Amino acid sequence: MKDLDNLHKLIDKEKHLFEKGDVEEKIEKINSDNFTDFLKKNQLKPTHQRFVLAELLFDGKNKHFTAEDLYEKVKLKKNKISLATIYNTLHSFVEKKLLKQVSIKDGKTIFCTNMNSHYHFFNSVTGQLTDIPKNKIKLKTVPTAPDGMKIDSINVVINLTKKN
Ligand SMILES: [Zn+2]
Repeated sequence: MKDLDNLHKLIDKEKHLFEKGDVEEKIEKINSDNFTDFLKKNQLKPTHQRFVLAELLFDGKNKHFTAEDLYEKVKLKKNKISLATIYNTLHSFVEKKLLKQVSIKDGKTIFCTNMNSHYHFFNSVTGQLTDIPKNKIKLKTVPTAPDGMKIDSINVVINLTKKN
């Protein structure tokens, strides 16, 4: 379907950006008319709340945000969605692999819309997470997973602090 094709195109475009090492470059916006289909295709019931949140999140630009950040954005747009609903919706997006969840210091969770394999810097001064292209970190050895388990993903967060 067209929306999924668009998503695949976006992913392809992002790969290319990674090769150039420029992850900040803007990528093509998904046509908002396709959001209902986009949600349906990902087996998510197209509720009003999901639609509003998907529109804010999947605009074709990579972003990192907390549930609280999104809550504030929703309020600015004069939509009423509770923080609990936002948490639930974000977790359903993570389950469908539409979003990544990154745990940082103090047990905080930051979400990331970049679904390409990559790592993160965490700036403890500003609280911001930024992408590190995968090829900037070389993992030489990875331990084998415990019995009955397999490695699903590897997250690397490099914590930054101010010099001196
Ligand atoms: Zn990221």
